[in-house]
Amino acid sequence: MGVWSAPGRANLIGEHTDYNDGFVLPFAIQHRTAAAVRLRVDGRIRVASTFAEEPVEVALDDLETLFPSDGAAGRAQGPTVPEWAAYPLGVAWALRALVPAWAAGTFAGIDIAIASEVPVGAGLSSSAAIEGATGAALNELWGLGLDAVSLAQAGRRAENEAVGAPTGIMDQMASTLGQADAAVFLDCRTLETRSIPLGFAEAGLEVLVIDTGVKHAHSTGGYRERRESCERGAAALGVAALRDVTEADLPRAAELLDDVDFRRVRHVVTEDQRVLDTVAALAAHGPRAIGDLLVASHASMRDDFEISIPELDTAVDTALAHGAIGARMTGGGFGGAAIALVDHDRVPAVSEAVRTAFAEAGFAEPHLFTVVPSAGPHRDV
Ligand code: ADP
Ligand code: MG
Repeated sequence: MGVWSAPGRANLIGEHTDYNDGFVLPFAIQHRTAAAVRLRVDGRIRVASTFAEEPVEVALDDLETLFPSDGAAGRAQGPTVPEWAAYPLGVAWALRALVPAWAAGTFAGIDIAIASEVPVGAGLSSSAAIEGATGAALNELWGLGLDAVSLAQAGRRAENEAVGAPTGIMDQMASTLGQADAAVFLDCRTLETRSIPLGFAEAGLEVLVIDTGVKHAHSTGGYRERRESCERGAAALGVAALRDVTEADLPRAAELLDDVDFRRVRHVVTEDQRVLDTVAALAAHGPRAIGDLLVASHASMRDDFEISIPELDTAVDTALAHGAIGARMTGGGFGGAAIALVDHDRVPAVSEAVRTAFAEAGFAEPHLFTVVPSAGPHRDV
């Protein structure tokens, strides 16, 4: 019996670059999802969440039927579980798949109770937090000895194949590798990471999250269309992924692609460069030097990738107009949250200005709070 927890994450910069084999710079936040877990002797797994009225229980041996490795076709025919339960059950399934069948057959049954302080669907990756907490617990209780990268990969597999959300690996890596006062610089091709000191507190800066309350959904067409544009762009340019395209290649891309696909490609290519520039600027000049890169990132998502919404643009514009050093939407887009880098003393004024601007525009009241770069998964009790 024990309690494990894992954090949500905010992405400082590097949006929609992860599935293009590119660079991202997220950080784990202080909001965590906790999983209270105990072993049971009957080979069954039961998951409960404060999020759902009913727990879900299945035999461990049935996980392979529930989430067949051939993907969604099997899932549609087989027994189904509520979507939320596919996250923790999918992690258990993905972890079992890492060991030989006879060894998986010796795993004890599990009771998991989940509670979370990570807002759902706000672009702060409550999904990676639930995967990370479940993974950390099962890693220890099943004696798997997996490292943070393997646990992140299991979380991604759960999300892609058990839940059916076509996400990259950024969220899980940000959650499992988070460190206090640092971001995780991730090369999504090699999965190499570097911890990048942020120094926000020392510089008197806060990261203000402006959650618009507008729910995004990965399954909606917009996300898939963006991915397809990126794949077409890479194919037309003859590269494995847009990671292999540089800003110098953009004129050629403009000739080969239609206007929409070209702008999608330009976002990814320039965003990769902005991530590298942000890492360099942090090291050379500290966090006050990254504001313009955040602003350029937002403009690129708004104009080229077209994943912003009026609420996010209002949040960013208002924060900047009231003294934020930089601001951008964060997460997959079509809703969710923006982040603003703000002097500690100006947080109340910026917050008030954003609330007023939302009210004047007739938007729902935003949810505002600050996030602190924080540590990854650990055992709490
Ligand atoms: P986010 O940006 O928050 O990660 P996602 O759509 O990727 O948004 O994941 C949100 C989903 O994760 C929820 O709809 C739910 O199915 C699942 N989830 C997140 N937190 C919990 C929780 N505490 N309990 C149960 N399910 C959760
Ligand atoms: Mg998510």
